[in-house]
Amino acid sequence: MKIISIQSGTFPEIERLNRNFRKEYQKLKITLDTLSGREFYLKRFPNLMFSIIEMLPNLRHHRCSHGENIHISREYDPSHLISPIKILGDVIDTVHLLEHTILELQCQISEMEICSGLTCNYWEPENRYDVFVECTEPNLAAFSTELSVALFNHLLYAPNEQFPDIKDIIRLARTVYKHELRSIRQISTLLNWSEEKVIEGMERLEQFKFPFRVLQPAA
Ligand SMILES: [Zn+2]
Repeated sequence: MKIISIQSGTFPEIERLNRNFRKEYQKLKITLDTLSGREFYLKRFPNLMFSIIEMLPNLRHHRCSHGENIHISREYDPSHLISPIKILGDVIDTVHLLEHTILELQCQISEMEICSGLTCNYWEPENRYDVFVECTEPNLAAFSTELSVALFNHLLYAPNEQFPDIKDIIRLARTVYKHELRSIRQISTLLNWSEEKVIEGMERLEQFKFPFRVLQPAA
């Protein structure tokens, strides 16, 4: 999957498509393309879903709203088998799972309790999608997006290669986000990690464009 653009805004035109969207929240609009044929995604989807749920078990508690992901094709319907996330039997399932992964990462890092999203497919080009996610800080949602896309591409295209432990990335990101950027030593003490591990982790956060809040005005 390839990110084409990321924009933030309120996008009132899509509010009616998910009744859980809250008017006061900003949204991130992620436009992305899938890069392989339909069979590629259909074949890999079950393993992808199992792997993602194993990494982020809280996905089992997500809900899909009425009206979200309206789609016509329905070749198989294993929905509600392992997660309440709707499955429609097409490429959109992979993108929709990505949407839930972005929401989950964002909620875990920022400790947001509720957050809604929406996945839409273009008619033309048909491999293009818009994913909308509610956010309080667009840069953090953008980080969650970059990380989720990298994770999905890893699982889809190079599952035998190493990918950094997602739980460690979340722990570090949450710590840095919550306490604002502190010294390597302080983070190392907070997490009970070696300084080497903290440095490696911080480089990873940078790689996925984590919004380090070095200077944040108080008022
Ligand atoms: Zn959903």
